[in-house]
Amino acid sequence: MTERTPEQLALFAKQRENQATHTLYTDADPDKPEGACDRNGELVLGVCRVCGTYEAGLEDAPCPGKRPTPPRKPDLTFPDEPHLHEGP
Ligand SMILES: [Zn+2]
Repeated sequence: MTERTPEQLALFAKQRENQATHTLYTDADPDKPEGACDRNGELVLGVCRVCGTYEAGLEDAPCPGKRPTPPRKPDLTFPDEPHLHEGP
């Protein structure tokens, strides 16, 4: 039973559309993420180089574009950074 409903076909089309908006890393990219490569260093997962979305997520939504610098937690290896403790 592999017959697909129009709804499924529309979903698949939408997924392809979404995926097409992402810019995937390729094996030729020197900065391809290691986590997406196999032991031979070959890319085995689809990863968007713009938004960082992986695999199935690529189909779920179109690429949001370059994310603003994500808010990173302060580097806890320097807990005594003086300016973090500025106060009255
Ligand atoms: Zn993307």
